Amino acid sequence: MRVHANDGISAPAKEQLLTEGFTITTDFVPQEELIAYINKEKVDALLVRSATKVRKDLIDACPNLKFIARGGVGMDNIDVTYAKGKGIRVVNTPASSSISVAELVMAHLYSLTRDLCKANRRMPSEGCTAFAEMKKEYGKGAELRGKTLGIIGFGRIGKWVARYAIGNGMKVVYADNNATVDHLEVPFNGETVRVGVKMLSLEELLAKSDAITLHVPSKADGTPVLGADEFAKMKPGVILVNTARGNSIDEDALIAALKSGKVKSAGLDVYMNEPTPRADIMSLQNVSLSPHIGAATLEAQERIGGELAELLMAWREEVTVGRG
Ligand code: NAD
Repeated sequence: MRVHANDGISAPAKEQLLTEGFTITTDFVPQEELIAYINKEKVDALLVRSATKVRKDLIDACPNLKFIARGGVGMDNIDVTYAKGKGIRVVNTPASSSISVAELVMAHLYSLTRDLCKANRRMPSEGCTAFAEMKKEYGKGAELRGKTLGIIGFGRIGKWVARYAIGNGMKVVYADNNATVDHLEVPFNGETVRVGVKMLSLEELLAKSDAITLHVPSKADGTPVLGADEFAKMKPGVILVNTARGNSIDEDALIAALKSGKVKSAGLDVYMNEPTPRADIMSLQNVSLSPHIGAATLEAQERIGGELAELLMAWREEVTVGRG
């Protein structure tokens, strides 16, 4: 069985698959050469992360392909329904990276509340000439402790953000279309502590939160969850973090809110037009930016690799038993 991991796979997972008798290649093949490569190498299973696209044209052109796996959560780079309709198994590893994304949210929150993002941009060139001026300007930060964090989307990642925020002394509220939990189990210094969390309507959350973090995709019709109407309902000077998807926020409305000060500052990991985000967002001073790295930690890569290897082995077993 031939496996090609076009966006890479962790070394232990590759080793495990080789030991289990899979043939596995991991060299990145550019998108425009991928169809020819899959057919030439007779690839049975294609593993991708978010960079490689698995669209209808590739699925149609590669009749040997039987298994597509996305290492991570969002499947928006794969035509999932179409592939399944052709009898291809399509899987992902939704839980592996939740902690990594949650930690990036906290990193952006700290970067924004203490103006680290602004200081980092200026220190290399102005550290020796404007130290006192910057000390004054960036010495007006705030603490997270005691502030209210509004979490939109209380699924896998939203819950982990809540655990970290609670550990940092924040008050946590959330809004969610489906979840209705009233407490969380929070691992704490070797013990597990049960902590209450409050669900609010989206309107209430927008009005009450000092900081808001988004953990939902865009709405079913593709429109953003946060647009001009929602920004109008937020507390003036709120901090916003988006590590979900670029199209979960109306970027024009976000820029307007950042310029007017309605949103004091924003932490962004995802953008509408990846991999070429808008320059007018990136050049704003009150943003903390990362290039879609939420899930990309060594620990998450290892968990994702391990889960992909398990999924592949289970699928091979199923196919073999089916044939037998
Ligand atoms: P999840 O499915 O576990 O949780 C999503 C939650 O949002 C669910 O509880 C659902 O009921 C709720 N929801 C959906 N639409 C809603 C809406 N319009 N309003 C209110 N609630 C809504 O998903 P997850 O694993 O927690 O992932 C959350 C987001 O993070 C996804 O968009 C995913 O693509 C993104 N993500 C980003 C990265 C990254 O690298 N930055 C990595 C992993 C996941």
